[in-house]
Amino acid sequence: DAKQRGRNSFQFYTKDINSQTYRQLILENQLVKALAREEFEVHYQPQVDVISGQVVGAEALVRWRHPEKGLQPPANFIAIAEETGIIEGLGAWVLQKVCQDIRQLTRDGYRIPRISINLSARQFRQSDLVEQCRNTIRSAGIAPAYIELELTESTIMKDIDIAVGMLRQLNALGVRLAIDDFGTGYSSLNNLKHFPIDTLKIDKSFVRDIPGDRDDEAIVTAIVALAKSLELEVVAEGVETREQLGFLKRLGCEIVQGYFFSRPLPFEGFREYLKGK
Ligand code: C2E
Ligand code: MG
Ligand code: MG
Ligand code: MG
Repeated sequence: DAKQRGRNSFQFYTKDINSQTYRQLILENQLVKALAREEFEVHYQPQVDVISGQVVGAEALVRWRHPEKGLQPPANFIAIAEETGIIEGLGAWVLQKVCQDIRQLTRDGYRIPRISINLSARQFRQSDLVEQCRNTIRSAGIAPAYIELELTESTIMKDIDIAVGMLRQLNALGVRLAIDDFGTGYSSLNNLKHFPIDTLKIDKSFVRDIPGDRDDEAIVTAIVALAKSLELEVVAEGVETREQLGFLKRLGCEIVQGYFFSRPLPFEGFREYLKGK
């Protein structure tokens, strides 16, 4: 009978599904609900031009306002969202939210910078990504150049031919493109030359121990030189100290992002930050 079956299936599950998988199932379920209940938030971290002192950009970073556990960083949910496909809905929501926030800021008279949005590998392979971007940007009534999409090297390298086609379509749409965490993957320099990208972002792992660590100093120096020769913008992430900033400035790396200037801020905080500029 049903009761018997229920008991058997319970035994089956406790025996065969380890607690890790079980926790993931619960998390997946919670994420679906969180999306429907709009429990996610987009925070913004300013990117500052160290020469002019102006905010030239910001990175949009998603957070989950968990009803009991409080604010959750992406490390606690992005991987599961990616594995389960929830990232497609979440990514669409983030894009829409960022477009609305840009609309709001321009309406209120802020001279606003471009906003960078992280795209995961799965989002990048979505067949309707270009159309989704076009539609969302259009219905918000903003210029596509306000949006920059960040992709990692491994996302692009997964299937290089498809990736180049996708990058070209996105570029044609008028959004900017950045390679995130640059230096941690293995994109060939030859390929890099052919990508229609605008920005290289130096991974914070290389910034952490400069000045001082000879290897990291050499890597950061090389990336800045590479960006300059390919005429790409270069952004250093994870800048926390005056010493790191000084080192980057001497190299000619003009745009920096990190706790030294600001942590990622909720929309209202970001607005206040822009007001103070
Ligand atoms: P990321 O794109 O490399 O973002 C930079 C991360 O460095 C952010 O972590 C940011 O808060 C952190 N950070 C910025 N300045 C500093 C600093 O000075 N020191 C240190 N130690 N850290 C700094 P966060 O917000 O936890 O995001 C982690 C990752 O989650 C992101 O790495 C990105 O890969 C992913 N992510 C965030 N938002 C989204 C999203 O909307 N969609 C997708 N697909 N991925 C996202
Ligand atoms: Mg990023
Ligand atoms: Mg990064
Ligand atoms: Mg990173």
